Amino acid sequence: MAKKKMKKWVIAVLAIVAILVVLVAVIAIKTAMFTSKQVAAGKQVTFAIDADKAAERLSGAIKFKTISNIDYDKFDYSQFKGLQEYIEKSFPLVHATLEKKVINNYALLYTWKGSDPSLKPILLLGHQDVVPVAPEGWKHEPFSGDIADGYVWGRGTLDDKGCVLNIMEAAEYLIKDGFKPTRSIYFAFGFDEEIDGMQGAGKIGEYLKAQNLQFEFAVDEGMLITKGAVPGVKQPAALIGIAQKGYLSLELIADSTGGHSSMPPKQTAVGVLAAAVDKLEMNPFPIRMTGPAAGFFEYLGPEMAFPYNMLFANMWLFGPVIEGQLAASNATNALIRTSTAPTMFQGSNKDNVLPAKAVAVVNFRILPGESVRSTQDRVTQVINDPRVKVQPIASGSSEPSPVSPTDAWSYKTLSKTIREVMPDVLIAPMLVMAGTDCGHYEALCPNIYRFLPQRLYGDDIDMLHGTNEKIAISSYVEGISYYAQLMKNFSQ
Ligand SMILES: [Zn+2]
Repeated sequence: MAKKKMKKWVIAVLAIVAILVVLVAVIAIKTAMFTSKQVAAGKQVTFAIDADKAAERLSGAIKFKTISNIDYDKFDYSQFKGLQEYIEKSFPLVHATLEKKVINNYALLYTWKGSDPSLKPILLLGHQDVVPVAPEGWKHEPFSGDIADGYVWGRGTLDDKGCVLNIMEAAEYLIKDGFKPTRSIYFAFGFDEEIDGMQGAGKIGEYLKAQNLQFEFAVDEGMLITKGAVPGVKQPAALIGIAQKGYLSLELIADSTGGHSSMPPKQTAVGVLAAAVDKLEMNPFPIRMTGPAAGFFEYLGPEMAFPYNMLFANMWLFGPVIEGQLAASNATNALIRTSTAPTMFQGSNKDNVLPAKAVAVVNFRILPGESVRSTQDRVTQVINDPRVKVQPIASGSSEPSPVSPTDAWSYKTLSKTIREVMPDVLIAPMLVMAGTDCGHYEALCPNIYRFLPQRLYGDDIDMLHGTNEKIAISSYVEGISYYAQLMKNFSQ
């Protein structure tokens, strides 16, 4: 009897050991097969760019206070005219070679005609406007354009005059060098990107649509080159935004009888809403590791050090652990689900008065693949309380963008260009949390990518819309090379 029991016990242990061996073998094989998806870097491409002259030209452009205000009447349009004249003077070959069209008074559209009309053109985007400045704390005046310590200083150096001037510098260089594109190249520079771009990019988009144009490729700001943001990855990573999240703010409204607070009902309108908001926070939108999030780890996972690479190679086993980790950080949580942010709450306006009506506002950033409609439906379903009315606020919403493919020739050509100019940089797709001008071109191009060739490491990111915005001259010059190589690589 004892012997028999012993035997069973041994068999069980052996079975467990066998399962573990198989499991470890599968994990090891999957990890070994999880190899780099990076485009071969090849030989580094360089251009003979005069960094000092280029920095000076950018410095001059920063001096124009092309600030976009919420109110279009408050724009100082003379600053935009000044900037445009300055650009015209600074890049004579571009203006002698390309066709320039001014749309809606201040938006700029340049066309560099290609020799082969059968090839679909490409579209390079930027914007002339900048966000307003809080004057405190600047080491150099925000519109000084000072050149100091290897930087050009000022509002717009990164966002986004640096990009506009990068494109101009690259074109000027290539024309001087004798380059002629086979595929037409368009530059489109709006003037109100920071307030949704309806009058600038919006009108350029309408104009291009009326011409029945379709583009092979479009690139706009959105993501950058980061470093140290991903555990287990030492190299800098160029993140290419392949989609952007949608935007929706819902108003939750509860009505009740008002009156004096000395004899309140069991639950006031504020209590009803508080419970509704709590339900929303306790029941976040489902995690979806698809599209940009899946692509991000597919491209960066193999570059990670052990054990991270092993974990991402074996999502079938470690998926729940990884998702739990991603959900624990606010930044990565926003990458994998539609986010829920209660932002406003209003009851009565006196401490001893019951609210006849309470209103809360919850802001959602919608994951691609979901919609404004599906978000509102789920909110109603989760709250599940007929006393709470759910409706979008008046100021509008936007659907998440389509997801641009990572297997398209355009994406590969963009990746190749980055690696040729900056061979130390890894590349991965990413999701953009905020909107940019490229939303106005969605109907014109299936391959829209959001990437600025600027290295912003650590706290550098705070300079965007913040104090002491500045661009490293070395990174600015790298940007010129990137656009020059991009125009060449797409010209085939
Ligand atoms: Zn911008």
